[in-house]
Amino acid sequence: MESTEKAKSIAQFRCQQCNAPYPLGADDVIATCPYCGYTFEVGGEEVKTHLILKNALSAKDVEKEVKTWLTFASDKTVGRGIMKHIKIGTPILQWMPTFKVDADCIKYHLGGDKVKRGNETIWKKMEGKDQTRENEWVLARRYAASFGIQEFIQTLDDGEIAEFEIDLTQNAPVLNAEIVTNDAKRRAHLLKTRREREELKKNMENLFDYRLDMDIKSCDYIHAPYWLVRYNYRNGTFRVAISGATGKVVLGELPVTKRYRLLRWFGSVGMLIVSAIAIQSLPYSIFFALLANSDSGEIWLIPIVVLVLGVAAFIIAVALVARVLKYEIQVNAEGEERSEDEDLPFTLEDVKEMIT
Ligand SMILES: [Zn+2]
Repeated sequence: MESTEKAKSIAQFRCQQCNAPYPLGADDVIATCPYCGYTFEVGGEEVKTHLILKNALSAKDVEKEVKTWLTFASDKTVGRGIMKHIKIGTPILQWMPTFKVDADCIKYHLGGDKVKRGNETIWKKMEGKDQTRENEWVLARRYAASFGIQEFIQTLDDGEIAEFEIDLTQNAPVLNAEIVTNDAKRRAHLLKTRREREELKKNMENLFDYRLDMDIKSCDYIHAPYWLVRYNYRNGTFRVAISGATGKVVLGELPVTKRYRLLRWFGSVGMLIVSAIAIQSLPYSIFFALLANSDSGEIWLIPIVVLVLGVAAFIIAVALVARVLKYEIQVNAEGEERSEDEDLPFTLEDVKEMIT
């Protein structure tokens, strides 16, 4: 990614304020002079409101934070043993261009949830409407190529904001914006809608309708401090992203260790055994259902449940094996593995629910 970005940069440009020459990227739509901080729309006017989220960390602080987080996160996942073989590289600071979109949000949702009433299951209507003032931060780059950048953007509300001054950037590169204000507003709506739909879907069986009206009050251009640290473990290189605004790790990679592989492998074998037992007992449960010769169809639920259980256990076994083969895992600030649920088609909780 870094090399293609370089290839796209166009000829030298001269700052309108300090006359220093510097290159502009072909996709840049808002640029900042790295010498004096003059910020303008490419081919247009100066951007009057240009803010900065203060960086609260030195390179030494970042190293310390990474070490603390690695100890904590490895303890929860791959095992603390990795700490003995870790060599942390020099932290690198970059200023990421963002828009903070502040809006009055009117939200409406309509959905349904299954509820058991006695023997029958009925649908319960789930409807809600509320109005709140909220911020949505949007990355002002075309591609979110930097490691952990989405997680980073989500934490920015907690930082301290000031007027942009080039001295506050500590000589770290200030990235230019590749999207304009109007794109940012559109993206803010899209991102918020997508996130809230996901959130609502977790709480109900079916979401039929979700609508979001954003009455945008302001859309400020703000640079935010993003730190990236690479560390070595045995022969591999792994990354950790830290927010300079909050001083916290937002996402990190951990090497997959033998201990981790072994645990997943046993989990997978366990699931295969469950699957095998379920599938083997299927003919017996069908036979039993035939013998029962019951008038109600309910007896047939038993072979169906057995079949679902067998197939589900098999899929989980395959998903667990896939994780054993991975080289690294991604872990968030709380030490939880990312996409724990996403790469499994369903969780053990779902299976339990299917059976009961
Ligand atoms: Zn300048």
